Amino acid sequence: MHSLNSLPVLPIVALRIDPWSSTTIKEYEKLFAYFGIKPFNEVLPELSELVEPHPLMRRGVVFGHRDFRNFLQVIKSGGKAAILTGLMPSGKMHLGHKMVIDQLVYYQKVMKAKVFVAIADVEAYAVRKKSRKEVIESALNEYIPNYLALGLDPEKTVIYFQSNYRPEYYRLIQLFSRKVTLAEMQAIYGQDLGPAKIMAALTQAADILHPYLNEFGGHDIVLVPVGADQDPHLRLARDIADRYSNDIRLGRPASTYHRLMTGLTGDKMSSSRPDSYIALTDPPEEAAKKVMRSLTGGRATAEEQRKLGGEPQKCPIFELNAYHLIPDDNELRKLYEDCVSGRILCGRCKKETAERLKEFLKEHQERLNSVKDLVKEVVKPPAF
Ligand code: SF4
Repeated sequence: MHSLNSLPVLPIVALRIDPWSSTTIKEYEKLFAYFGIKPFNEVLPELSELVEPHPLMRRGVVFGHRDFRNFLQVIKSGGKAAILTGLMPSGKMHLGHKMVIDQLVYYQKVMKAKVFVAIADVEAYAVRKKSRKEVIESALNEYIPNYLALGLDPEKTVIYFQSNYRPEYYRLIQLFSRKVTLAEMQAIYGQDLGPAKIMAALTQAADILHPYLNEFGGHDIVLVPVGADQDPHLRLARDIADRYSNDIRLGRPASTYHRLMTGLTGDKMSSSRPDSYIALTDPPEEAAKKVMRSLTGGRATAEEQRKLGGEPQKCPIFELNAYHLIPDDNELRKLYEDCVSGRILCGRCKKETAERLKEFLKEHQERLNSVKDLVKEVVKPPAF
């Protein structure tokens, strides 16, 4: 039987790492071999000595890292740690997005780290061809309120638009352009690289590295928790940090990598297909119906399932519970064992999941109403 610390990986399809494509990465093990990402399991004991690891870490959802030990070292020695995340405002914020925020809240509460949230409005406009108005409104009305409702402390969080920040940040972008070659960027991001993607990539490097500057707190380390598809930005930022180590106060950022959620339709969770995701603002009854329509890892007939058991490692409903709805490890282990032994069938399992989800959404949406007015106090939108 699989332990919850090593939830089985998804089936192997193809490896491609491109932050601008919609490809799902399904060969997580190859990230270790090809790109030098290390298994997160190896740092769990050290983390456990310090604090209780987050459920996403204990359950293998956060599966990889770069230099997480350096981050722990800074925490242990009482140094200053920053956590950076980028936010691409597009469509509804859903449970796939929530995983990053859960980790930010954890680092903020448990490790006392300062959180930086970069709203990638420049990238959304230049690379993804979104309208400025749509992106700015989506950030202000959809994403930031949900971030706050999920527990980010506005007092300990810096939220900024890439197009509306401070001069020292823009200086980094300009300086970085000197020591990066086109060939190097093509090796990281692929051949299809025009001015928009180059500018977006250098901007992302400044997002990741600017908390090291004294003007932004002089942090001793920046940790970036990301989905594996965002690793190219980390590789570029780490290379740049090395090249500027004599000129500017920068350091090598650390990172962690989490699995991307499977959609309820069995493929990638996509903002263009509402049935594939649960939005944080979905009316609870509607979300419950999506759960009842979801694919599962169940067998063709009830008789077969009683005999063979279900396949939770292929089941979006199990993921929903493991990633979001069952915080207690023993309760989740029981669901896993009931499923693989055929003691529970998918109909009942979905109903119970739908109830958990309705309760979570109801509480979240109440919090959402109470934080909406805070948004204008925590972020200044660009004029155009
Ligand atoms: S019983 Fe639940 S966890 Fe198991 S396959 Fe069915 S829906 Fe998924």
